[in-house]
Amino acid sequence: MIVAARAVAALVLLVAGGFGWYELVESPRSAAFAPVITHGRGHVVALTFDDGPTRGVTDRLLGVLERERVPATFFVVGGAARREPALLRRMAADGDEIENHSDAHVHLNTILSARALDAQIAGADAAIAAATGRRARYLRPPFGARDAAVLDAARRRGLRVVLWSAMLDETAPHAAPAALAQRLTGGVGDGAIVVLHDGDQGRGDAGERAYEAALAPRVIDALRARGFRFVTLDRLVGGS
Ligand SMILES: [Zn+2]
Repeated sequence: MIVAARAVAALVLLVAGGFGWYELVESPRSAAFAPVITHGRGHVVALTFDDGPTRGVTDRLLGVLERERVPATFFVVGGAARREPALLRRMAADGDEIENHSDAHVHLNTILSARALDAQIAGADAAIAAATGRRARYLRPPFGARDAAVLDAARRRGLRVVLWSAMLDETAPHAAPAALAQRLTGGVGDGAIVVLHDGDQGRGDAGERAYEAALAPRVIDALRARGFRFVTLDRLVGGS
């Protein structure tokens, strides 16, 4: 009985510790490693899409954004960008922004070597430049995981670190699309940076997150109904 109680106590501590760690280094709310961008201002919203591009998902999403005339910001994974340069060129032609989500979607704050950390950031920059001739201006660290070394590495490459203000909290949906779109947009206020995923960690397959890009039309409709306009990330926070 005592052993069981101690095991439960240890488990509680472990979970609390894990949550505390998340709150400290990965949550957008954490101020431990500042400054990071989590929102802008004005009655506008930036729609951002992480973890792609993914063939069959990102192209369908681009069709929606083109039809709705909504500019978006894509945080691409370097490896995925090298596989699908034509999708990056289509984003660029549409007026979408293309930004850095690392080369292989790793926890950047677990990389001990400064050179390896730089390579994770430089690799995605190079993939974006090779496909489009453009230079990324923002880094969104995968999982929001950051520390002083990550912020320094971003600064050395001239990238501002950006997180988000609204994201779905589950990787596999347990609710209908209408309910998920409502959950995502319900808390959106002025200047929000909204995250959806058009891939699964850049693996070339949307996996459990295939439903997220498909929510875009509902999310756009819901936010438009509240009078929001859509802008790219740099339009939302640029110059500040
Ligand atoms: Zn990601």
